[in-house]
Amino acid sequence: MKTTSELQQIDAAHNLHPFTDYKDLNKKGSRVITRAEGVYLWDSEGNKILDGMAGLWCCNIGYGRKELVDAAYQQMLSLPYYNLFFQTTHPPAAELSQILSEVTPNHFNHVFFTNSGSEANDTVVRMVRRYWDLKGKADKTVIISRENAYHGSTMAAASLGGMKPMHAQGGLPIPDIVHIQQPHWFKDGGDSTPDEFGINAAQALETKIIELGENRVAAFIGEPVQGAGGVIIPPATYWPEIQRICDKYGILLIADEVICGFGRMGRWFGSDHFQIKADLMPIAKGLSSGYLPIGGVMVSDRVAGVLIDEGGEFYHGFTYSGHPVACAVATENIRIIKEEKIIENVHDFTAPYLQKRWKELENHPLVGEARSIGFMAALELVKDKNSMECFPESDNVGLICRDACFRSGLVMRSVGDTMVISPPLIFDKSHIDELITLALKSLDLTSEKLQMKN
Ligand SMILES: *Cc1c(COP(=O)(O)O)cnc(C)c1O
Repeated sequence: MKTTSELQQIDAAHNLHPFTDYKDLNKKGSRVITRAEGVYLWDSEGNKILDGMAGLWCCNIGYGRKELVDAAYQQMLSLPYYNLFFQTTHPPAAELSQILSEVTPNHFNHVFFTNSGSEANDTVVRMVRRYWDLKGKADKTVIISRENAYHGSTMAAASLGGMKPMHAQGGLPIPDIVHIQQPHWFKDGGDSTPDEFGINAAQALETKIIELGENRVAAFIGEPVQGAGGVIIPPATYWPEIQRICDKYGILLIADEVICGFGRMGRWFGSDHFQIKADLMPIAKGLSSGYLPIGGVMVSDRVAGVLIDEGGEFYHGFTYSGHPVACAVATENIRIIKEEKIIENVHDFTAPYLQKRWKELENHPLVGEARSIGFMAALELVKDKNSMECFPESDNVGLICRDACFRSGLVMRSVGDTMVISPPLIFDKSHIDELITLALKSLDLTSEKLQMKN
């Protein structure tokens, strides 16, 4: 096996990483992860690291599950590849589509398979516009999303997202995608209560619909809880008001469940938690616990009915839509989630415990707010707890804290000065205790580093 520095060298010479400043990375050298088991990672230097992010919000059942390996192996032996084009199917895709109809809310009985969350959201854009076209309302093309949303990285998905730095590269958004404010009470709430703020933030949707004209608006898209934006948990009043507005104007509601789905919130879907009745649900990540790439769009009876009955051919699909090996692995993943009652355990025991322990971090001088929902949580790092004054961006406090976490043996991610976690759903109480201990140690290291700078 190659040494760490050999791997770093060839990586720097040939590998362009996602969301990375190449020059900066090549100066430092990549961290090399070589192995994982349960909730731990090991790097090439033998350091053991607690994975507070479940990979990238996806490894819900943890690492090293042999059943998933066997499912992939057996499927590769019997049928490693076939497609779903030309009026053909295969057992893994047919079976997974049925299982997905069972675990999603009742009015979802169809899935369109993709290979990622980004492709799922590209599919959403095409499907929404096709739906309205078939309904004789071809002018309804505008999709309303939110600032600081994350829906993926392809042209359409990045356009749906509300990340300004992403839009600035490559002339995005594509036409007819607009953004309203996000329901981020800590940042934008001002003097209002969370409940008042939730209503106001949702009513920005109605204002936008009126401004654009009802006859132009096709859909609204939102993550039940914004993940990559910084685990932004909307006030309880937000989703009911969004639902009311979508229902009032008859526009399609899209719940991007790529992170929230498959147990992340202590329910099967974020829509179950907030009682959202969505028309489309993009899924990915936890669908296969990240063991293989697979995503999809859950299509409600309302939309599927039109596509099927009035449709003709929908000119859309991927070579690997419903890849048999990925479907077999996803099916096994869902079987394990059900059989081991992983979601029930999160809901009843571990998420309440995480919430209690996470809240303790608010006692730390750097932490302005510690919030969590299910198995997602965030810390807002602030300069002054009384005034909630933020650090200047140039201090890069989030990055300092992220590096401190790594050095302490914990993966916690930074989004600006917001630290976020999304642990594997199999974290038990002792893992949560370990997480809190390591997080505190990392916060202390961050404080020390900041003092040294001043
Ligand atoms: C990660 C993510 C996506 C994109 O999924 P990829 O598989 O990376 O393409 C879309 N939506 C949300 C909410 C996500 O978190």
